[in-house]
Amino acid sequence: MISDIPSYEFDVVVVGGGIAGLCAALAACEQGASVMLAEKSPLAERGGNTRFADAQMRFPHEADEYGVRTYTEEEMIDDMMRISRGRANRELVETLVRNAAETVEWLTELGIEWEPGYPHTAGYRRAPKAGGQGLVDTLFRRFEGRDGVTSYDTAAVELLVDAERRVSGVRCSSPDGLVDLLARGGVVLACGGFQANVQMRVAHLGRFADSLILRGSRYNTGEGIRMALDIGAQPAGQWGDYHSAVIDARSPVVECGVTALYNFQMGIIVDGQGRRFLDEGEDFRDHTYVKFGKAIIEQADGRAYCIFDQQMVQREEFARAWRPVGPAIEAQSIGELASELSIPGDQLEETVQAYNQAVQPGEFDLDRLDGKGTRGLAPPKSNWAMPLTEPPFVAIPVTGGITFTFGGLKVDTTARAIDVAGQPIAGLYAAGEPMGEIFYYNYPGASSVIRGAVYGRIAGRHAAEQAAAG
Ligand SMILES: Cc1cc2nc3c(=O)[nH]c(=O)nc-3n(C[C@H](O)[C@H](O)[C@H](O)COP(=O)(O)OP(=O)(O)OC[C@H]3O[C@@H](n4cnc5c(N)ncnc54)[C@H](O)[C@@H]3O)c2cc1C
Repeated sequence: MISDIPSYEFDVVVVGGGIAGLCAALAACEQGASVMLAEKSPLAERGGNTRFADAQMRFPHEADEYGVRTYTEEEMIDDMMRISRGRANRELVETLVRNAAETVEWLTELGIEWEPGYPHTAGYRRAPKAGGQGLVDTLFRRFEGRDGVTSYDTAAVELLVDAERRVSGVRCSSPDGLVDLLARGGVVLACGGFQANVQMRVAHLGRFADSLILRGSRYNTGEGIRMALDIGAQPAGQWGDYHSAVIDARSPVVECGVTALYNFQMGIIVDGQGRRFLDEGEDFRDHTYVKFGKAIIEQADGRAYCIFDQQMVQREEFARAWRPVGPAIEAQSIGELASELSIPGDQLEETVQAYNQAVQPGEFDLDRLDGKGTRGLAPPKSNWAMPLTEPPFVAIPVTGGITFTFGGLKVDTTARAIDVAGQPIAGLYAAGEPMGEIFYYNYPGASSVIRGAVYGRIAGRHAAEQAAAG
Protein backbone atom coordinates (compact mmCIF):
# COMPACT_ATOMS: atom_id res chain seq x y z
CA MET A 1 0.00 0.00 0.00
CA ILE A 2 1.35 3.42 -0.92
CA SER A 3 1.41 5.74 2.08
CA ASP A 4 -0.17 9.12 1.47
CA ILE A 5 1.72 10.68 4.34
CA PRO A 6 3.91 13.42 2.87
CA SER A 7 7.64 12.98 3.38
CA TYR A 8 10.62 15.31 3.20
CA GLU A 9 14.26 14.28 3.23
CA PHE A 10 17.18 15.91 5.06
CA ASP A 11 20.66 14.88 6.08
CA VAL A 12 19.87 15.19 9.77
CA VAL A 13 16.56 15.46 11.64
CA VAL A 14 16.68 16.80 15.18
CA VAL A 15 13.72 16.27 17.51
CA GLY A 16 13.43 19.03 20.13
CA GLY A 17 14.77 22.56 20.30
CA GLY A 18 16.40 22.96 23.72
CA ILE A 19 20.13 23.19 24.29
CA ALA A 20 20.82 19.61 23.10
CA GLY A 21 18.73 19.89 19.93
CA LEU A 22 20.09 23.31 19.01
CA CYS A 23 23.68 22.20 19.49
CA ALA A 24 23.01 19.07 17.43
CA ALA A 25 21.40 21.14 14.68
CA LEU A 26 24.19 23.72 14.60
CA ALA A 27 26.97 21.13 14.68
CA ALA A 28 25.33 19.28 11.77
CA CYS A 29 25.01 22.55 9.80
CA GLU A 30 28.72 23.19 10.36
CA GLN A 31 29.44 19.91 8.59
CA GLY A 32 27.43 21.13 5.60
CA ALA A 33 24.38 18.99 6.36
CA SER A 34 20.80 19.97 5.58
CA VAL A 35 18.97 20.00 8.92
CA MET A 36 15.34 19.93 10.00
CA LEU A 37 14.48 20.60 13.64
CA ALA A 38 11.04 19.37 14.68
CA GLU A 39 9.73 21.14 17.77
CA LYS A 40 6.51 20.17 19.50
CA SER A 41 5.80 23.56 21.05
CA PRO A 42 4.61 26.66 19.24
CA LEU A 43 7.30 29.21 18.39
CA ALA A 44 6.37 31.40 21.38
CA GLU A 45 7.12 28.55 23.81
CA ARG A 46 10.22 27.12 22.13
CA GLY A 47 13.33 26.35 24.11
CA GLY A 48 12.20 23.49 26.36
CA ASN A 49 13.50 23.27 29.90
CA THR A 50 16.52 25.25 28.77
CA ARG A 51 14.55 28.47 28.45
CA PHE A 52 13.36 28.28 32.07
CA ALA A 53 16.88 27.83 33.41
CA ASP A 54 19.57 30.30 34.33
CA ALA A 55 21.57 27.79 32.28
CA GLN A 56 24.62 27.79 34.54
CA MET A 57 27.31 25.59 33.07
CA ARG A 58 29.99 23.78 35.03
CA PHE A 59 33.26 23.04 33.27
CA PRO A 60 36.96 22.60 34.03
CA HIS A 61 38.80 25.91 34.25
CA GLU A 62 42.24 27.32 35.03
CA ALA A 63 42.79 29.69 37.96
CA ASP A 64 42.53 33.32 36.88
CA GLU A 65 43.39 36.81 38.10
CA TYR A 66 39.82 37.32 39.41
CA GLY A 67 40.37 34.81 42.19
CA VAL A 68 38.85 31.79 40.41
CA ARG A 69 40.58 28.66 41.61
CA THR A 70 41.57 25.88 39.24
CA TYR A 71 38.87 23.24 38.64
CA THR A 72 40.52 20.35 36.85
CA GLU A 73 38.95 17.76 34.56
CA GLU A 74 39.82 15.14 37.16
CA GLU A 75 38.03 17.10 39.90
CA MET A 76 34.89 17.42 37.78
CA ILE A 77 34.96 13.73 36.89
CA ASP A 78 35.40 12.89 40.59
CA ASP A 79 32.51 15.18 41.58
CA MET A 80 30.19 13.57 39.03
CA MET A 81 31.19 10.03 39.97
CA ARG A 82 31.06 10.68 43.75
CA ILE A 83 27.66 12.37 43.62
CA SER A 84 26.22 9.48 41.58
CA ARG A 85 27.66 7.12 44.24
CA GLY A 86 29.90 5.65 41.56
CA ARG A 87 27.00 4.59 39.32
CA ALA A 88 27.37 7.11 36.48
CA ASN A 89 28.84 5.65 33.29
CA ARG A 90 32.46 6.77 33.61
CA GLU A 91 33.05 6.83 29.84
CA LEU A 92 30.06 9.11 29.30
CA VAL A 93 31.13 11.34 32.19
CA GLU A 94 34.71 11.56 30.89
CA THR A 95 33.50 12.49 27.41
CA LEU A 96 31.25 15.15 28.91
CA VAL A 97 33.98 16.65 31.06
CA ARG A 98 36.78 16.51 28.48
CA ASN A 99 34.61 18.28 25.90
CA ALA A 100 32.93 20.76 28.24
CA ALA A 101 35.37 23.70 28.13
CA GLU A 102 35.77 23.45 24.35
CA THR A 103 32.00 23.36 23.92
CA VAL A 104 31.66 26.53 26.02
CA GLU A 105 34.23 28.16 23.70
CA TRP A 106 32.18 27.03 20.71
CA LEU A 107 29.05 28.57 22.23
CA THR A 108 31.02 31.78 22.76
CA GLU A 109 31.94 31.79 19.06
CA LEU A 110 28.25 31.36 18.30
CA GLY A 111 27.58 34.61 20.15
CA ILE A 112 26.81 33.62 23.74
CA GLU A 113 27.97 36.20 26.28
CA TRP A 114 28.70 35.10 29.82
CA GLU A 115 28.59 36.25 33.40
CA PRO A 116 29.92 34.56 36.56
CA GLY A 117 27.74 31.76 37.91
CA TYR A 118 26.16 31.66 41.38
CA PRO A 119 28.58 32.20 44.25
CA HIS A 120 29.32 29.69 47.04
CA THR A 121 29.22 26.61 44.86
CA ALA A 122 31.58 23.75 44.16
CA GLY A 123 33.50 23.65 40.89
CA TYR A 124 33.64 26.38 38.24
CA ARG A 125 30.60 27.62 36.34
CA ARG A 126 29.41 30.39 34.08
CA ALA A 127 25.96 31.48 32.99
CA PRO A 128 24.78 33.08 29.75
CA LYS A 129 24.18 36.78 30.44
CA ALA A 130 20.71 36.56 28.90
CA GLY A 131 19.81 33.35 30.80
CA GLY A 132 18.37 30.21 29.24
CA GLN A 133 15.87 32.16 27.15
CA GLY A 134 18.63 34.30 25.66
CA LEU A 135 20.74 31.21 25.08
CA VAL A 136 18.08 29.44 23.03
CA ASP A 137 17.09 32.60 21.15
CA THR A 138 20.69 33.22 20.07
CA LEU A 139 21.17 29.62 18.99
CA PHE A 140 17.88 29.59 17.03
CA ARG A 141 19.04 32.77 15.23
CA ARG A 142 22.36 31.13 14.32
CA PHE A 143 20.57 28.00 13.12
CA GLU A 144 18.20 30.00 10.91
CA GLY A 145 21.19 32.02 9.65
CA ARG A 146 22.72 28.77 8.45
CA ASP A 147 19.60 27.78 6.51
CA GLY A 148 18.41 25.37 9.17
CA VAL A 149 14.65 24.80 9.11
CA THR A 150 12.50 24.58 12.25
CA SER A 151 8.99 23.18 12.15
CA TYR A 152 7.02 24.28 15.24
CA ASP A 153 3.89 22.56 16.56
CA THR A 154 5.44 19.39 15.17
CA ALA A 155 5.60 16.47 17.60
CA ALA A 156 7.56 13.32 16.84
CA VAL A 157 5.31 10.29 17.36
CA GLU A 158 7.11 7.30 15.85
CA LEU A 159 10.52 6.32 14.52
CA LEU A 160 10.70 4.98 10.97
CA VAL A 161 12.88 1.91 10.56
CA ASP A 162 14.01 0.42 7.24
CA ALA A 163 14.52 -3.24 6.30
CA GLU A 164 18.14 -3.17 7.60
CA ARG A 165 16.84 -1.96 11.01
CA ARG A 166 18.33 1.48 10.37
CA VAL A 167 16.34 4.46 11.61
CA SER A 168 15.47 6.28 8.41
CA GLY A 169 13.37 9.09 9.82
CA VAL A 170 10.66 10.10 12.21
CA ARG A 171 6.90 10.44 11.80
CA CYS A 172 5.53 13.65 13.26
CA SER A 173 2.14 15.04 14.05
CA SER A 174 1.77 18.59 12.74
CA PRO A 175 -1.17 21.00 12.32
CA ASP A 176 -1.40 19.74 8.70
CA GLY A 177 -1.57 16.11 9.80
CA LEU A 178 1.09 13.42 9.86
CA VAL A 179 4.39 14.06 8.10
CA ASP A 180 7.46 11.85 7.67
CA LEU A 181 10.82 13.55 8.13
CA LEU A 182 13.45 11.31 6.54
CA ALA A 183 17.08 11.51 7.60
CA ARG A 184 19.99 10.29 5.46
CA GLY A 185 22.48 10.59 8.36
CA GLY A 186 20.38 10.14 11.44
CA VAL A 187 17.65 11.27 13.81
CA VAL A 188 18.77 13.00 17.01
CA LEU A 189 16.34 12.63 19.91
CA ALA A 190 16.78 15.76 22.00
CA CYS A 191 13.22 15.97 23.26
CA GLY A 192 13.64 15.87 27.02
CA GLY A 193 12.76 13.41 29.77
CA PHE A 194 9.29 12.33 30.96
CA GLN A 195 8.89 14.80 33.83
CA ALA A 196 5.81 16.43 32.32
CA ASN A 197 4.00 13.11 31.79
CA VAL A 198 2.11 12.31 34.97
CA GLN A 199 1.38 8.73 33.94
CA MET A 200 5.06 7.92 33.28
CA ARG A 201 6.09 9.85 36.40
CA VAL A 202 3.87 7.79 38.67
CA ALA A 203 4.75 4.55 36.88
CA HIS A 204 8.49 5.07 37.33
CA LEU A 205 8.95 7.39 40.31
CA GLY A 206 6.06 6.37 42.54
CA ARG A 207 2.61 7.40 43.72
CA PHE A 208 3.79 10.68 45.27
CA ALA A 209 4.95 11.90 41.87
CA ASP A 210 1.52 12.86 40.56
CA SER A 211 1.47 16.16 42.43
CA LEU A 212 5.03 17.44 42.03
CA ILE A 213 5.43 21.04 40.89
CA LEU A 214 6.86 20.97 37.36
CA ARG A 215 9.70 23.49 37.19
CA GLY A 216 10.22 23.48 33.43
CA SER A 217 8.61 22.73 30.08
CA ARG A 218 5.16 21.13 29.87
CA TYR A 219 6.20 19.56 26.55
CA ASN A 220 8.74 17.04 27.87
CA THR A 221 6.39 14.10 28.06
CA GLY A 222 8.74 11.25 27.24
CA GLU A 223 7.88 10.43 23.61
CA GLY A 224 11.51 10.39 22.53
CA ILE A 225 12.40 7.75 25.08
CA ARG A 226 9.24 5.74 24.40
CA MET A 227 9.65 5.78 20.60
CA ALA A 228 13.22 4.52 20.93
CA LEU A 229 12.25 1.75 23.37
CA ASP A 230 9.51 0.70 20.93
CA ILE A 231 12.12 -0.10 18.27
CA GLY A 232 14.40 -2.00 20.64
CA ALA A 233 16.57 0.66 22.28
CA GLN A 234 17.98 -0.22 25.67
CA PRO A 235 16.69 1.61 28.75
CA ALA A 236 19.49 2.87 30.99
CA GLY A 237 20.11 4.98 34.06
CA GLN A 238 18.06 5.47 37.21
CA TRP A 239 14.48 5.24 36.04
CA GLY A 240 13.12 5.66 39.56
CA ASP A 241 14.80 8.96 40.32
CA TYR A 242 14.72 12.57 39.22
CA HIS A 243 16.16 16.07 39.54
CA SER A 244 14.47 18.24 42.11
CA ALA A 245 15.18 21.50 43.94
CA VAL A 246 14.24 23.28 47.16
CA ILE A 247 11.61 25.62 45.71
CA ASP A 248 9.28 28.18 47.18
CA ALA A 249 6.11 26.22 48.09
CA ARG A 250 3.97 29.01 46.60
CA SER A 251 5.39 28.46 43.07
CA PRO A 252 2.99 27.99 40.14
CA VAL A 253 2.39 24.26 39.67
CA VAL A 254 3.56 24.13 36.03
CA GLU A 255 6.53 25.88 34.38
CA CYS A 256 7.38 27.84 37.52
CA GLY A 257 10.95 28.53 36.39
CA VAL A 258 13.65 29.60 38.83
CA THR A 259 11.82 29.75 42.16
CA ALA A 260 14.44 27.76 44.02
CA LEU A 261 16.03 28.92 47.26
CA TYR A 262 19.78 28.71 46.88
CA ASN A 263 20.41 30.10 50.37
CA PHE A 264 19.03 27.31 52.54
CA GLN A 265 22.51 26.47 53.83
CA MET A 266 22.48 29.85 55.62
CA GLY A 267 19.74 28.77 58.02
CA ILE A 268 17.90 25.67 59.18
CA ILE A 269 15.13 23.64 57.52
CA VAL A 270 12.25 22.30 59.62
CA ASP A 271 9.26 20.13 58.79
CA GLY A 272 5.60 20.86 59.55
CA GLN A 273 6.16 19.64 63.12
CA GLY A 274 8.97 22.14 63.68
CA ARG A 275 11.72 19.49 63.60
CA ARG A 276 14.97 19.50 61.62
CA PHE A 277 15.34 16.41 59.42
CA LEU A 278 18.55 16.89 57.38
CA ASP A 279 22.06 18.31 57.59
CA GLU A 280 21.66 21.70 55.88
CA GLY A 281 25.43 22.18 55.75
CA GLU A 282 26.38 18.70 54.57
CA ASP A 283 28.12 19.97 51.40
CA PHE A 284 28.09 22.95 49.03
CA ARG A 285 24.48 23.71 48.30
CA ASP A 286 24.83 22.82 44.62
CA HIS A 287 25.70 19.30 45.78
CA THR A 288 22.70 19.07 48.13
CA TYR A 289 19.76 21.03 46.69
CA VAL A 290 18.52 18.18 44.52
CA LYS A 291 18.51 15.57 47.25
CA PHE A 292 17.08 18.04 49.79
CA GLY A 293 14.21 18.82 47.39
CA LYS A 294 13.42 15.11 47.36
CA ALA A 295 13.87 14.80 51.14
CA ILE A 296 11.23 17.51 51.64
CA ILE A 297 8.82 15.48 49.52
CA GLU A 298 9.64 12.13 51.09
CA GLN A 299 10.47 12.96 54.73
CA ALA A 300 8.55 16.16 55.38
CA ASP A 301 5.30 15.31 53.63
CA GLY A 302 5.99 17.82 50.88
CA ARG A 303 6.19 21.01 52.95
CA ALA A 304 9.05 22.47 55.01
CA TYR A 305 10.29 25.88 56.15
CA CYS A 306 13.69 27.52 55.74
CA ILE A 307 14.33 29.66 58.80
CA PHE A 308 16.89 32.46 59.06
CA ASP A 309 17.80 35.31 61.35
CA GLN A 310 18.96 38.82 60.44
CA GLN A 311 22.66 37.87 60.53
CA MET A 312 21.99 36.00 57.29
CA VAL A 313 19.11 38.02 55.85
CA GLN A 314 21.24 41.17 55.86
CA ARG A 315 24.00 39.56 53.77
CA GLU A 316 24.06 40.65 50.14
CA GLU A 317 24.10 37.08 48.81
CA PHE A 318 20.90 36.19 50.72
CA ALA A 319 18.67 38.14 48.36
CA ARG A 320 20.66 37.12 45.28
CA ALA A 321 20.01 33.47 46.05
CA TRP A 322 16.22 33.72 46.23
CA ARG A 323 13.68 35.14 43.73
CA PRO A 324 10.64 35.57 45.94
CA VAL A 325 7.32 34.10 44.86
CA GLY A 326 5.64 35.63 47.90
CA PRO A 327 6.80 37.64 50.88
CA ALA A 328 9.00 36.10 53.57
CA ILE A 329 7.13 35.45 56.82
CA GLU A 330 8.63 37.46 59.67
CA ALA A 331 8.24 37.53 63.46
CA GLN A 332 10.05 38.98 66.46
CA SER A 333 10.27 35.63 68.26
CA ILE A 334 10.52 31.97 67.26
CA GLY A 335 7.20 31.26 69.03
CA GLU A 336 5.43 33.96 66.99
CA LEU A 337 7.05 32.68 63.82
CA ALA A 338 5.69 29.20 64.57
CA SER A 339 2.23 30.58 65.02
CA GLU A 340 2.47 32.50 61.70
CA LEU A 341 3.44 29.19 60.05
CA SER A 342 0.78 27.21 61.94
CA ILE A 343 3.36 24.76 63.25
CA PRO A 344 3.79 23.68 66.91
CA GLY A 345 5.46 26.58 68.74
CA ASP A 346 6.91 24.54 71.62
CA GLN A 347 8.59 22.19 69.20
CA LEU A 348 10.05 24.93 67.01
CA GLU A 349 11.40 26.75 70.08
CA GLU A 350 12.96 23.52 71.33
CA THR A 351 14.50 22.84 67.89
CA VAL A 352 16.04 26.31 67.64
CA GLN A 353 17.28 26.24 71.23
CA ALA A 354 18.94 22.83 70.80
CA TYR A 355 20.47 23.96 67.52
CA ASN A 356 21.77 27.25 68.95
CA GLN A 357 23.35 25.46 71.89
CA ALA A 358 25.07 22.94 69.61
CA VAL A 359 26.69 25.53 67.30
CA GLN A 360 30.47 25.50 67.63
CA PRO A 361 32.75 28.53 67.35
CA GLY A 362 34.75 29.08 64.15
CA GLU A 363 35.00 31.29 61.09
CA PHE A 364 31.84 31.40 58.97
CA ASP A 365 32.83 31.26 55.28
CA LEU A 366 30.31 30.31 52.59
CA ASP A 367 33.05 29.98 49.98
CA ARG A 368 34.45 26.84 51.53
CA LEU A 369 33.31 23.90 53.62
CA ASP A 370 34.16 25.92 56.74
CA GLY A 371 33.71 23.13 59.29
CA LYS A 372 31.76 25.52 61.51
CA GLY A 373 29.27 22.91 62.57
CA THR A 374 27.19 21.69 65.49
CA ARG A 375 28.22 19.20 68.17
CA GLY A 376 25.97 16.57 69.73
CA LEU A 377 22.98 17.37 67.52
CA ALA A 378 21.03 14.91 65.37
CA PRO A 379 20.94 15.54 62.50
CA PRO A 380 24.04 17.73 62.65
CA LYS A 381 24.65 20.87 60.64
CA SER A 382 28.19 20.23 59.41
CA ASN A 383 29.16 23.61 57.94
CA TRP A 384 27.98 27.23 58.13
CA ALA A 385 26.21 26.78 61.48
CA MET A 386 25.37 30.17 63.00
CA PRO A 387 22.97 30.51 65.95
CA LEU A 388 19.56 31.98 65.17
CA THR A 389 19.58 34.93 67.55
CA GLU A 390 18.86 38.18 65.68
CA PRO A 391 15.18 39.04 65.17
CA PRO A 392 13.10 39.51 63.20
CA PHE A 393 13.25 35.82 62.30
CA VAL A 394 12.34 34.95 58.74
CA ALA A 395 10.69 31.83 57.27
CA ILE A 396 10.12 30.79 53.67
CA PRO A 397 7.82 27.81 52.93
CA VAL A 398 9.50 25.31 50.61
CA THR A 399 8.71 22.12 48.76
CA GLY A 400 10.49 19.92 46.22
CA GLY A 401 9.75 20.34 42.51
CA ILE A 402 10.59 18.13 39.55
CA THR A 403 13.01 19.40 36.91
CA PHE A 404 13.87 16.36 34.80
CA THR A 405 14.01 12.59 35.05
CA PHE A 406 17.21 10.53 35.35
CA GLY A 407 16.14 7.38 33.47
CA GLY A 408 16.52 7.26 29.71
CA LEU A 409 18.27 5.53 26.86
CA LYS A 410 21.61 3.79 26.70
CA VAL A 411 24.01 5.70 24.45
CA ASP A 412 27.69 5.44 23.64
CA THR A 413 30.22 8.28 23.72
CA THR A 414 29.19 9.35 20.20
CA ALA A 415 25.57 9.67 21.44
CA ARG A 416 24.44 6.69 19.33
CA ALA A 417 21.51 4.84 20.87
CA ILE A 418 22.34 1.27 21.87
CA ASP A 419 19.89 -1.58 21.42
CA VAL A 420 18.89 -4.25 23.93
CA ALA A 421 21.59 -6.53 22.51
CA GLY A 422 24.27 -3.91 23.13
CA GLN A 423 24.71 -2.83 19.49
CA PRO A 424 24.41 0.74 18.16
CA ILE A 425 21.13 1.41 16.34
CA ALA A 426 22.17 2.86 12.98
CA GLY A 427 20.69 6.29 12.40
CA LEU A 428 19.56 6.95 15.98
CA TYR A 429 21.11 9.35 18.52
CA ALA A 430 19.99 10.69 21.90
CA ALA A 431 21.32 13.81 23.58
CA GLY A 432 20.49 15.78 26.73
CA GLU A 433 17.70 14.62 29.00
CA PRO A 434 16.73 11.45 27.06
CA MET A 435 20.19 9.97 27.84
CA GLY A 436 20.49 7.72 30.86
CA GLU A 437 23.52 6.87 33.02
CA ILE A 438 24.76 10.36 33.86
CA PHE A 439 22.83 11.25 37.04
CA TYR A 440 21.91 8.97 39.94
CA TYR A 441 20.32 9.84 43.34
CA ASN A 442 21.59 13.41 43.34
CA TYR A 443 23.10 15.95 40.97
CA PRO A 444 26.17 18.19 40.77
CA GLY A 445 24.75 21.69 40.12
CA ALA A 446 25.11 23.21 36.64
CA SER A 447 25.77 19.99 34.75
CA SER A 448 22.62 19.35 32.69
CA VAL A 449 22.80 22.23 30.21
CA ILE A 450 26.46 21.47 29.57
CA ARG A 451 25.54 17.78 29.12
CA GLY A 452 23.00 18.79 26.48
CA ALA A 453 25.49 21.07 24.74
CA VAL A 454 28.31 18.52 24.65
CA TYR A 455 26.26 15.50 23.60
CA GLY A 456 24.02 17.46 21.24
CA ARG A 457 27.10 18.74 19.43
CA ILE A 458 28.65 15.27 19.28
CA ALA A 459 25.40 13.73 17.97
CA GLY A 460 24.85 16.38 15.30
CA ARG A 461 28.40 16.12 14.03
CA HIS A 462 28.31 12.33 13.92
CA ALA A 463 24.94 12.18 12.15
CA ALA A 464 26.12 14.73 9.56
CA GLU A 465 29.26 12.68 8.92
CA GLN A 466 27.12 9.60 8.33
CA ALA A 467 25.05 11.53 5.80
CA ALA A 468 28.19 12.74 4.02
CA ALA A 469 29.61 9.19 3.95
CA GLY A 470 26.43 8.10 2.15
C1 LIG B 1 13.93 26.28 36.46
C2 LIG B 1 15.07 25.46 35.94
C3 LIG B 1 16.38 25.85 36.22
C4 LIG B 1 17.45 25.08 35.76
N1 LIG B 1 18.74 25.52 35.97
C5 LIG B 1 19.77 24.86 35.40
C6 LIG B 1 21.08 25.39 35.42
O1 LIG B 1 21.31 26.53 35.86
N2 LIG B 1 22.09 24.63 34.90
C7 LIG B 1 21.86 23.39 34.37
O2 LIG B 1 22.81 22.73 33.93
N3 LIG B 1 20.61 22.88 34.29
C8 LIG B 1 19.58 23.59 34.77
N4 LIG B 1 18.30 23.11 34.64
C9 LIG B 1 18.09 21.83 33.90
C10 LIG B 1 18.33 22.09 32.42
O3 LIG B 1 17.78 23.34 32.05
C11 LIG B 1 17.76 21.03 31.51
O4 LIG B 1 17.92 19.73 32.02
C12 LIG B 1 18.40 21.13 30.12
O5 LIG B 1 18.33 22.47 29.67
C13 LIG B 1 17.70 20.19 29.17
O6 LIG B 1 18.11 20.43 27.86
P1 LIG B 1 17.55 19.48 26.70
O7 LIG B 1 17.96 20.09 25.43
O8 LIG B 1 17.92 18.07 26.99
O9 LIG B 1 15.97 19.52 26.87
P2 LIG B 1 14.95 20.75 26.71
O10 LIG B 1 15.63 22.06 26.83
O11 LIG B 1 13.83 20.49 27.65
O12 LIG B 1 14.43 20.63 25.21
C14 LIG B 1 13.60 19.55 24.83
C15 LIG B 1 12.70 20.05 23.70
O13 LIG B 1 12.04 18.93 23.10
C16 LIG B 1 10.72 19.33 22.77
N5 LIG B 1 9.91 18.10 22.63
C17 LIG B 1 9.43 17.29 23.59
N6 LIG B 1 8.78 16.25 23.06
C18 LIG B 1 8.83 16.41 21.71
C19 LIG B 1 8.33 15.68 20.61
N7 LIG B 1 7.64 14.54 20.78
N8 LIG B 1 8.57 16.14 19.36
C20 LIG B 1 9.26 17.30 19.15
N9 LIG B 1 9.75 18.05 20.18
C21 LIG B 1 9.54 17.60 21.43
C22 LIG B 1 10.31 20.24 23.91
O14 LIG B 1 9.23 21.07 23.55
C23 LIG B 1 11.60 20.99 24.16
O15 LIG B 1 11.65 22.18 23.40
C24 LIG B 1 17.20 23.88 35.04
C25 LIG B 1 15.91 23.52 34.71
C26 LIG B 1 14.84 24.31 35.15
C27 LIG B 1 13.45 23.92 34.76
